[in-house]
Amino acid sequence: METDTIAAISTPVGEGAIAIVRLSGEDAIPITNKLFKGNDLKTVDSHTIHYGKIVDPTTNEIAEEVMVTIMRGPRTFTREDVVEINCHGGLASVNRLLELVLSEGARLAEPGEFTKRAFLNGRIDLSQAEAVMDLIRAKTDKAMNVALKQMDGHLSNLIQTLRQQLLETVAHVEVNIDYPEYDDVEEMSHQMLIEKTTEVKSEIERLLQMAKQGKILREGLATAIIGRPNVGKSSLMNALVHENKAIVTDIPGTTRDVIEEYVNIRGVPLRLVDTAGIRETEDIVEKIGVERSRQVLKESDLILLVLNYGEQLTEEDVNLFKAVEGLEVIVIINKTDLDKQIDLEKVKQLSNNRPIITTTLIEDTGIDELEKAISDRFFEGELDAGDLTYVSNVRHIQLLKQSKQSLTDAMNGIEQGMPIDLVQIDITRTWELLGEIIGDTVHESLIDQLFSQFCLGK
Ligand code: GDP
Ligand code: ZN
Repeated sequence: METDTIAAISTPVGEGAIAIVRLSGEDAIPITNKLFKGNDLKTVDSHTIHYGKIVDPTTNEIAEEVMVTIMRGPRTFTREDVVEINCHGGLASVNRLLELVLSEGARLAEPGEFTKRAFLNGRIDLSQAEAVMDLIRAKTDKAMNVALKQMDGHLSNLIQTLRQQLLETVAHVEVNIDYPEYDDVEEMSHQMLIEKTTEVKSEIERLLQMAKQGKILREGLATAIIGRPNVGKSSLMNALVHENKAIVTDIPGTTRDVIEEYVNIRGVPLRLVDTAGIRETEDIVEKIGVERSRQVLKESDLILLVLNYGEQLTEEDVNLFKAVEGLEVIVIINKTDLDKQIDLEKVKQLSNNRPIITTTLIEDTGIDELEKAISDRFFEGELDAGDLTYVSNVRHIQLLKQSKQSLTDAMNGIEQGMPIDLVQIDITRTWELLGEIIGDTVHESLIDQLFSQFCLGK
């Protein structure tokens, strides 16, 4: 068991006026007490805050004015004794504080180690732990809500219910195996097996369907703006960025390989990616041809195709429509302040039932409608409802897919009249796979890997 005391700066470095050094473990309180001039922290009540000074024991110099929060386990995030030392921001002072704490015997926490301890000590399950990570990275309020719900145990409860159903099914099958002489038991088992597995499978499918939206909330909607030169792509880009507060960049400690800009469109994070150079694409079709542009554009979740109201449609425009066939597109007809030259009937026909928005970007009109179209596209009806559980985590999605597969195997087996104990193997496997989502049946190495993705100090 890990019982040593860990410490880390748990507020984003360089942000905010207050910084927190957090300690967790057996010696969290004694270590802090040695450095603290004020109340005797060893005797104070749990969950109390104390004002005082941090003194460097080697020089007797006062290092910091602080507020110290004492929380004794198990009523803490890690279930261990936890101390949070609040000091006035400033990188230098926080670092000094951390150094002092480390010199008194605490160990620098690995990334995610606080959350890992919470998990290992049974305070949270794995999907909740991962939600903490999502929360740290959440890009919009909606994404934050999803993470909060998951942390709250929504997904866990749902998975538990499904596992319970499978377990009951297996139990019935056991009866059947143990008492094969009861014909009606077999009859019933068959019926029940079909019913239960169908039920569980459709629930898994529902979760998977929502996963796409979950992913978008978490990672942002990869968005490309395309159109002929001069139609207003840059203007559109600027309008989107200016009208919407760009979303805060990642907290230091998480790594990102590419520069991305996020804008929050009514809860949908648009990720204007600049990797493949598809963010704003001039002449894409002209340069690389319809087929290759299709390949490039396929990486996008959303394409904003801009046309010019003041000009006739050209062959290039038509080619752009060809390049985006089958993809998620919103058509924008810009420059409606000019005399109409464009053939609107033709645009409708080319757009093929996709939304068409008219804008006059030099006057900033039409942006509202565009934003509405974007959010409608991704929060259609039910997805906006408050009590849904999104699956937003790649590992969960993988496990759900595998669960669905092994359940499908079971169902095929039932239909083909396979011996019931063989069917049972697939059902048990499904039960295990679902268990991995909440951490019931995971391997140690997976746990380490997962938690190392966290930010330091969480
Ligand atoms: P891009 O080449 O597609 O990126 O187009 P830009 O955004 O650079 O715009 C090209 C020109 O069209 C600029 O001079 C813009 O000011 C102008 N423009 C953009 N939107 C409108 C509009 O709604 N009406 C008019 N008349 N001009 C516009
Ligand atoms: Zn441009």
